[in-house]
Amino acid sequence: MLSNTMLLFGLVIGISFAAILNYLIEITSRDLPFFSKSTDCPACEQNMGLSSQIPIIGYALLKGKCPQCGKKRSLTIPLLELSLISFSVWAFVTLGLSPAFQVSLLWMGLIGVAVVDYHKWIIPNYFVLIILFVGLIAMVSGDGSLKHALSGMGVAVIVSLFLVIPQRFGTSSKTLALGDVKLCLAVGLWLGWVLAIYVFFSASLLASFIWIISGPTQGFSTQRRLQFGPFVALSTMLFGIGRAVDPQFLTHLLTFRF
Ligand SMILES: [Zn+2]
Repeated sequence: MLSNTMLLFGLVIGISFAAILNYLIEITSRDLPFFSKSTDCPACEQNMGLSSQIPIIGYALLKGKCPQCGKKRSLTIPLLELSLISFSVWAFVTLGLSPAFQVSLLWMGLIGVAVVDYHKWIIPNYFVLIILFVGLIAMVSGDGSLKHALSGMGVAVIVSLFLVIPQRFGTSSKTLALGDVKLCLAVGLWLGWVLAIYVFFSASLLASFIWIISGPTQGFSTQRRLQFGPFVALSTMLFGIGRAVDPQFLTHLLTFRF
């Protein structure tokens, strides 16, 4: 297909996914039921107009403020929308239709997990379902296979034991990390065992690193926990790009030859 057509595809898909991402982040971080999000300002509850919901443009039109009460809206969301749209355009121009659709949708799910888990310590099921759906598309379209998917989930089960068992004996929190477990299983399905090992290993390494460097300000108590979701999301993005761009990526990872 012509690269102009793919560029347009990427733009349309990117903007649609950005709008869905915005919607899902808002309902999950404000604990709203699925169809209840309105165009009201969260601060003054007055209507900001439908145009306020358009990715990036909505923010720009209102100059980042509520037109009624003047309360500033967070810049995080438009920046995430911009990154998702740029990523989608890049993916459609360079990767081809099916893989581009998969990674763009996957990105949407992972960004959602990272943002909501970071702020609320919750991994919403909506985003897990999106990631799970991407794994199923890969399996059906022939980019993955049942064996590939099951092996990735197998690695995720082992990782999940490490997430859940310490909490059973822990004293600080009674809640199990079930959101993390669901997330690991869902990404494992898409990743397959080789990438899953790399992703979970680098996510744990990254999390430990951040835990240590945030120690001086937040203390070194063994009870201090860190959200694991954003690290899994980030690692999946990095290794996911690697696999999408380089067909030999898995061979490199397996043989340690780069
Ligand atoms: Zn307002």
